[in-house]
Amino acid sequence: MKTLGIQPVYSAAEGAGATVNGEAIGASRTETMHCCIVLWGAQFRCSSADWGSRIGHMSECPFCLIGAGAVDRDLVAYRTENVFVIPVPWQRAKNMGHCLVLPREHVTDLYSADRNLITELFDVVARVSAAAPKAFGASGSTIQQNNTIPDQVLHHLHVHVIPRSIGDAFKQPDITTKSEIPYAARVEQAAALRAALSGL
Ligand SMILES: [Zn+2]
Repeated sequence: MKTLGIQPVYSAAEGAGATVNGEAIGASRTETMHCCIVLWGAQFRCSSADWGSRIGHMSECPFCLIGAGAVDRDLVAYRTENVFVIPVPWQRAKNMGHCLVLPREHVTDLYSADRNLITELFDVVARVSAAAPKAFGASGSTIQQNNTIPDQVLHHLHVHVIPRSIGDAFKQPDITTKSEIPYAARVEQAAALRAALSGL
């Protein structure tokens, strides 16, 4: 499996045949999806020179870069002193607005996090969950968090807040119904969530 590289360009295809910079990255749908998540860097819009200079003195972890404000600032829907919120690139059509709540510092697992950080993290999770109906027309939400699950390669603590609606047929794991959401659409989701959170 490929690890995060500089300015990867991957095909939108799932499963066997998907590529990064022309190289096959996934022998299976599962592997390819994990690669796509890992290769969040492909979502960055900075030039290769910018990217190179940034990772020259920063972690290659894309969540660290976004949390530090180095890239994709307009994707950040909400920010506290130690936590930020962004929409994920791959979402289900019936669960639009799927967001991640993450610490700004590179914490690998929930059980590695400071108690105060966990409190702050889940306070934000609760706020995002409360805002999801107004922001995305959801009836509720599902909260999900993974720690070193099989094939996980991006180890920056994050909590999923998945908007839920009646008849969404949500099931987990389900990689077959996800599709890549354009960057501009995710910026709009971040703005909708930001507005909903400001009204809480
Ligand atoms: Zn990180």
